[in-house]
Amino acid sequence: MTARVIDGVALAATIRQDVAMRSAALKAQGTQPGLAVILVGSDPASQVYVRNKVTACQQAGLYSVMEQYPVTMSQQELLARIQALNVDPAIHGILVQLPLPPHMDAHQVIEAIAAEKDVDGFHISNAGLLMTGKPLFRPCTPYGIMKMLEAEQVPLRGAVAVVVGASNIVGKPMAMLLQSAGATVTICNSKTRDLAWHTGHADIVVVATGRARMIDGSMVKPGAVVIDVGIHRTPEGKLCGDVDYESVRQVASAISPVPGGVGPMTIAMLLVNTIEAAERAQHNKAT
Ligand code: NDP
Repeated sequence: MTARVIDGVALAATIRQDVAMRSAALKAQGTQPGLAVILVGSDPASQVYVRNKVTACQQAGLYSVMEQYPVTMSQQELLARIQALNVDPAIHGILVQLPLPPHMDAHQVIEAIAAEKDVDGFHISNAGLLMTGKPLFRPCTPYGIMKMLEAEQVPLRGAVAVVVGASNIVGKPMAMLLQSAGATVTICNSKTRDLAWHTGHADIVVVATGRARMIDGSMVKPGAVVIDVGIHRTPEGKLCGDVDYESVRQVASAISPVPGGVGPMTIAMLLVNTIEAAERAQHNKAT
């Protein structure tokens, strides 16, 4: 079997078109959706991510500001900037690019963002709402993966799903969304015994470990759907994921590639979350 390739670029383009239409509709009602992206320091990968997010916003007709600060910025100064954006009516979404410099406490910084502007969905009250099945914002990467599974018409009710990786930003919210959709979910981490047994019994495998090509074809059930969240640069300068694409595509029924899979969807869902925030703000203004 050779797996169907799940085209994240094409799906993201469709979603971004929809965002552009919703953005135009909001503008006609007097609200231009606005996103503020904050970057502290000069990590090259973060600079690329932030630039991509801001460009995507502009292309979809959203207002976006990118605030870049030196690594010497104090946490107090950052918190003051967030407070100002929290009350800025032109800004509906606030994103602080992670990782932050080591002298900052990322938890405290994220908690400072107003929950209704937390378009990354990382604020503790948004994590709680997701956990209780009443999400305000779904974290962008898992949200994008749910859209990919939906577009591929992957049955979720009763499906056996394994999420490899248990971070707060990908693995845990991914498991919550799959569970809410009716899947039976196992979350694996670095201490999991016999990982291949778990992945080998799953209808859906989502891999977000930060370990290049760690899931290979021998660890996947024939016909499974495999979603690869990881992004790595190989010594030859190519991009690869946490999944060994070549061996897994011989076994799976569908697979997301790297690049061109989850990455573009993450950005598209950031735009969706910003539009949703702006639509809620517009609704509150009107009522
Ligand atoms: P974290 O480092 O925060 O978490 C990694 C998780 O993987 C941890 O739960 C860890 O377990 C688990 N893990 C590590 N090694 C193994 C192993 N050998 N077997 C099983 N589990 C293991 O990573 P993130 O969730 O932030 O990111 C994961 C990957 O996804 C990275 O490559 C990142 O670059 C990428 N990413 C891509 C995005 C996109 O848009 N495409 C967005 C976000 C991330 P433990 O809890 O025991 O430590």
